[in-house]
Amino acid sequence: MPFAKLHTELESRAAQGLLRRRRTLASAQGVRITVDGKSYLSFCSNDYLGLASHPKLIEALQQGAQQFGVGAGASHLVSGHFETHQQFEAAFAEFVGKPAALAFSTGYMANLGVVQALVGRGDTVFADKLNHASLNDAMLLSRAEVKRYRHNDMAHLAGLLSQTKSGRKLIITDAVFSMDGDIAPVPELLALCEQYDAWLLLDDAHGFGVLGEQGRGTLSYCKSPPAPLLQSGERESHADYKLNPDRELSPLWKRGGRGDLNTSRIIYMATLGKAAGVSGACVAAEQVVIDTLLQNARSYIYTTASPPALSVALLASLQILRDEDWRRGKLQQLIAQLCAGVRDLPWQMMASSTPIQPLLVGGNEAALSLSDGLRERGIWVPAIRPPTVPQGTARLRITLSAAHTENDIDELLKALHELAH
Ligand SMILES: *Cc1c(COP(=O)(O)O)cnc(C)c1O
Repeated sequence: MPFAKLHTELESRAAQGLLRRRRTLASAQGVRITVDGKSYLSFCSNDYLGLASHPKLIEALQQGAQQFGVGAGASHLVSGHFETHQQFEAAFAEFVGKPAALAFSTGYMANLGVVQALVGRGDTVFADKLNHASLNDAMLLSRAEVKRYRHNDMAHLAGLLSQTKSGRKLIITDAVFSMDGDIAPVPELLALCEQYDAWLLLDDAHGFGVLGEQGRGTLSYCKSPPAPLLQSGERESHADYKLNPDRELSPLWKRGGRGDLNTSRIIYMATLGKAAGVSGACVAAEQVVIDTLLQNARSYIYTTASPPALSVALLASLQILRDEDWRRGKLQQLIAQLCAGVRDLPWQMMASSTPIQPLLVGGNEAALSLSDGLRERGIWVPAIRPPTVPQGTARLRITLSAAHTENDIDELLKALHELAH
């Protein structure tokens, strides 16, 4: 029995109800999905804008495959770097307001590559305690010293920075936290970078496409003066927000101006398989940082380039982000509807103005049975439990998409109210 120990470990996991399992989709990603032969209303994808199966992206991918074939055939530094990769990087850099960019195959690989390329032994990484697993793995792999600060606690971070005298300093944080939906205090983080001569890696997996003017992401959200109001024709459908008075909900696409913010210390990373609806990731930063990544980032250098047709689809996705503000307006409207509708439930919605809307349940069993109850009613919302989130904070992670309708939200609210009784 060469694998007896593995059997035992898996069995004990199963006994604690912690065995992870996959569910198999038989339809395209979207609001209505077919899973294991049954149809569900889904609130569990990161396809926030409903682009994953958008006809324009499908067409772009097909056209890209016609032109460039399927496989890239080699790594970027050998012979796998295509014109369309280059065009996408330039378009991405321009879109997020940075001088240069480098595209990676996934966000996980981008984080590993950036941290390992920029810091090593003798340097220090400062990390928010609620960061995504890929940032945690990246800092361990880098061999830099690791200091973790309490979630969004700038005083704690300042204390740790002030105790660090030598080596490079890199702060790493989610921009929008994936299990909580709240936003990192970017201006305050930048002020600390200036004060202590540190760099900031901002992981905008959940902000890119969703936050800021035209979906340019968290940098734009923190920086740009309020965008002009929507055209009168577009306004009609978004006019009637049912706002929850207990929560401040400024529309996603506009936010008070910090146009003076100097963001040159930021290394900005966005993943492209979430709101952008495709796959991959792109890092944007000062030219010298990008040049350094090209020389040093092992997860960039030692892997086959992603299929060039994906870059063609990504260029089409950027165009939709620019053109279709209504998707972000719609999201905002759905968020307001959901928040207003849960007020009289026994569970609290966590404070979030992003499409990640966690409903805090508390106990593991309670969260699971709520998720099961919804599934029996044909609604799919995952329960998130420790160790993914802290003990006692098991929750339903509700994610919204611009492709949801008001009726979809009503259906979810009705089911939650039934299950509360
Ligand atoms: C999803 C995610 C990643 C990983 O991106 P992939 O492209 O899926 O590998 C990194 N960071 C955060 C915060 C994420 O949510």
